[in-house]
Amino acid sequence: MMNWLRWVWQKLRERFVGRPEPVGLQVARVEDLPDVLEQSRLYLVGEGEYLWSVAMLCPCGCGETLQMNTLPEARPRWEVEQHQDGTATLHPSVWRKVGCRSHFFLRRGLVQWCGDED
Ligand SMILES: [Zn+2]
Repeated sequence: MMNWLRWVWQKLRERFVGRPEPVGLQVARVEDLPDVLEQSRLYLVGEGEYLWSVAMLCPCGCGETLQMNTLPEARPRWEVEQHQDGTATLHPSVWRKVGCRSHFFLRRGLVQWCGDED
C-alpha cells in the first residue's frame, strides 16, 4: 500500500513540478520468481531469450502476485513489448476475475485502470 501511495505522490509531484520522471515498473529478468516481489518491478521469467511468464504484484495493493503466461501455446497468453527506458507494455489488459478484481492496462510500465467492470 505504501508503494502505491508513493506512486500517486510521484504522479502528483510530476504534474506540479513538471519534471517527467520515469515512474513505470522497471523490468527485471529472472529465471525463477523470487519469494518476495517488489511493487516497482515487472518480472520477466524465463531463461536466455525464452520467456515463460511475466509477474508483478497487484497494483491495487492487495498483495497478490499476478502471473501472466507468455508461452506461445498458452491460453490466455500475453505479449510483452519492452522499451528502451527499461519498462514494458503488456497486451492485452490484466483482469483478475477473483479477489480484488483489478482490471488494468500496463503501458510503458504504468498502470492504467480500466473503468467499469461488467
Ligand atoms: Zn489487487
